[in-house]
Amino acid sequence: MTATHSTRMLILGSGPAGLSAAIYGARAGMAPIVVQGIQPGGQLTTTTDVENYPGFREVIQGPWLMEEMQAQAEHVGAQMMWDTIVEVDLSQRPFRLVGDGGHVYLGDTLVIATGAQAKWLGLESEQKLRGQGVSACATCDGFFFRGKKVAVIGGGNTAVEEALYLTNHSHDVTLIHRRDSLRAEKILQERLFKHHGIKVLWNTEIDQFVAGEGNQGLVALDLKDTVTGETSRLDVDGGFVAIGHHPATELFEGHLELDADHYIKVTPGTTHTSVPGVFACGDVMDKLYRQAITAAGTGCMAALDAERYLAEADFEAEEAVAAE
Ligand code: FAD
Ligand code: NAP
Repeated sequence: MTATHSTRMLILGSGPAGLSAAIYGARAGMAPIVVQGIQPGGQLTTTTDVENYPGFREVIQGPWLMEEMQAQAEHVGAQMMWDTIVEVDLSQRPFRLVGDGGHVYLGDTLVIATGAQAKWLGLESEQKLRGQGVSACATCDGFFFRGKKVAVIGGGNTAVEEALYLTNHSHDVTLIHRRDSLRAEKILQERLFKHHGIKVLWNTEIDQFVAGEGNQGLVALDLKDTVTGETSRLDVDGGFVAIGHHPATELFEGHLELDADHYIKVTPGTTHTSVPGVFACGDVMDKLYRQAITAAGTGCMAALDAERYLAEADFEAEEAVAAE
């Protein structure tokens, strides 16, 4: 049996952005419904130690933080739905979304918080060593490699920024790029080339992430020169894959304005999308910061923007009735 669920505020995604929007939305009386998607709690449920989310003196665990956020959202009145949206109609209000089991969700406003996933090289050894020396987020994990040797893979802005960031923790950073020139902006390249703590390996790709004995995690990278085919080994303790992200926006192609990298476009300084009444927050609209705290911050903004939008729409409707 399929059902129809209606709400003043429909939220897609249950990471820090969606759950923060839910907390603010519920407290503003909008009785939000959160469609959680296939990863309830979002990306932080795939990690262990989180040291940079404010409010906790000791290291906390990602899955625990997300359980607490969900419990807080439910405590103030948000309703969680174990469902994934597969179809959207944003052409009229209420917005109509359909879950993969056929349930229908109607929202007077819609908050999109579907996040973004890091791209990986696709090597089996990379998959095995994720969280044991292999990471896709230097800001998140760089601190765990204090005084150790690290490498960053990629040649875009993210890779260069991550390499520069890692010099705060490590005196031995290697940037590994598959071509002989970087895609990153010139100003970032200049900072990179001037930095004594960073070496660049050009025309190089990763053949394998090498594990140490027992539980040692990553100890080296097996490399291949893309021009000569020559192979070599680089000893490292940390390997940061920085080859881009996929924002989860396939559903919205043709319904909302997206940028060239498929992130949802918002009016700068707000969470307003190209469709009035639809708001976007978190990693799905942010390719610069991509942190739990920034996702939570924009989630709060989305709920406030949605609440103001509804208050104005209600006021206009009342005025129209009074004028009749
Ligand atoms: P996400 O957390 O990506 O959540 C997206 C949500 O959308 C999920 O619940 C998913 O199920 C849902 N969804 C997707 N598609 C649909 C759909 N069609 N229908 C319904 N729901 C859908 N940040 C830090 O600040 N500190 C850290 O230490 C840190 N460590 C990290 C470690 C790892 C391994 C990773 C991967 C990330 C880490 N980050 C860290 C980054 C942080 O997790 C993200 O910036 C943050 O989770 C983004 O939040 P979000 O709510 O925008 O999206
Ligand atoms: P990106 O610009 O798409 O760059 C990805 C890099 O990874 C490229 O150098 C690419 O190599 C390399 N790469 C891709 N797939 C690979 C593979 N399978 N193996 C090896 N290397 C691979 O991604 P991004 O750096 O994450 O940036 C995404 C967007 O966010 C861009 O628009 C960027 O400008 C923006 N951004 C801006 C800032 C800033 O303004 N400060 C910071 C971060 C990101 P090739 O070059 O050979 O294709």
